[in-house]
Amino acid sequence: MGCRSNNQENQDKLQFDSLVVQGVPARHNEYGSIMPPIFLSSTYRFEDINTQGPYEYVRTQNPTREKAEKLVATLEGAPYAFGFSSGMAAIATVFEYFKPGDHVISSANIYGGTYRYFTDFFSKKQIDYNFYNDLNQLTDADFLPNTKAVFLETPANPTLRVIDIAKVAQLAHKHHAIVIVDNTFMTSYLQKPLDLGADVVAYSATKYYGGHADLCAGFIVTADKALAEEFNFYQNTLGSTISPFDSYTLIRGVKTMSLRMDRQKENVAYVSEALLKHPAVKSLYFPGSYSAEEAAIQAKQAKGNGAVVSFAVQPDVDLGKFFASLKMVDLAVSLGGVESLVCRPSTMTHEPYPKDALKKIGVHDNLVRFSVGIENKQDITRDIVQALDQSLQ
Ligand SMILES: *Cc1c(COP(=O)(O)O)cnc(C)c1O
Repeated sequence: MGCRSNNQENQDKLQFDSLVVQGVPARHNEYGSIMPPIFLSSTYRFEDINTQGPYEYVRTQNPTREKAEKLVATLEGAPYAFGFSSGMAAIATVFEYFKPGDHVISSANIYGGTYRYFTDFFSKKQIDYNFYNDLNQLTDADFLPNTKAVFLETPANPTLRVIDIAKVAQLAHKHHAIVIVDNTFMTSYLQKPLDLGADVVAYSATKYYGGHADLCAGFIVTADKALAEEFNFYQNTLGSTISPFDSYTLIRGVKTMSLRMDRQKENVAYVSEALLKHPAVKSLYFPGSYSAEEAAIQAKQAKGNGAVVSFAVQPDVDLGKFFASLKMVDLAVSLGGVESLVCRPSTMTHEPYPKDALKKIGVHDNLVRFSVGIENKQDITRDIVQALDQSLQ
């Protein structure tokens, strides 16, 4: 498998904010080019009919993709990473692990597309599943003899509810189930699920890894050799691989990931203060806002809260007017880019959920998700505050 991390080299001595820049060492690039070239060739010469070189065909492996995969594996401190054409392609490929008759436990509040996969594809494939509003309350009794895995997202999109990864992993392993964590909101910079006992980490790299709203990609990371062999086989068979060009864009985007997220964390703290004080805002959602217990879990398992906050507005607030009054921040789905974006999850990112399921996880029509960018924090805050002022008129 051409996806082993660079751990054997001196890079595992480097700090994370060095690894994002130096994780693809220029000294390994042809001609010593500081940025890696993009190998667009779909196919490679064989020496003779029995001898192929290190690369054969683009779907199977490609030098640029291999560099991106090694980089993501290195950042996670894991031996194996696999690159995909989207976060959903990565998640769907992990789900190939399940067979008819298997049972999967999942947190109820997950990405809308993942929810759609459960309710549509799992039913079609005769895979059983149960959604849990609070996986922190999971007990032995929730595991069935055919429970194959626990899937979770923490902090959850868009409620920012927090799940104790180590606790879930301990329980799951007792019942021979694997734990899959969608770590898109935190990234390997702020949270390392494998170190907490998870078996598989999935990413939408379209968000913080890419970081510039100009790339669609996903990753699976694992330290388990047997799982890695499965994923490698699925990846090559299903073919939803990350393209050479997107692999390059990812490598470039990742170089500033820790820098971006540090700035975004600072901006979130500033903007949150203004939101809390604003009369149009009913409540603020951030990792740990739900309960003291979740706050303690977040503090224990992650290095910070990331850069997404959600807020519920008061009943008399005209949300249409709020969005229309924004002068700099844009109304759009997606998150994790350098630009500040707001959206309404109930009708935008989470529309695959039926209304009653949305209500159960606490996503109402008055909830706004806010992905805070790297712009000047006073500019972001001024824009949001003036639009909230307008929404009360
Ligand atoms: C966006 C997102 C996905 C899906 O990723 P795509 O790259 O859009 O396919 C999955 N999980 C989370 C938490 C996301 O935010």
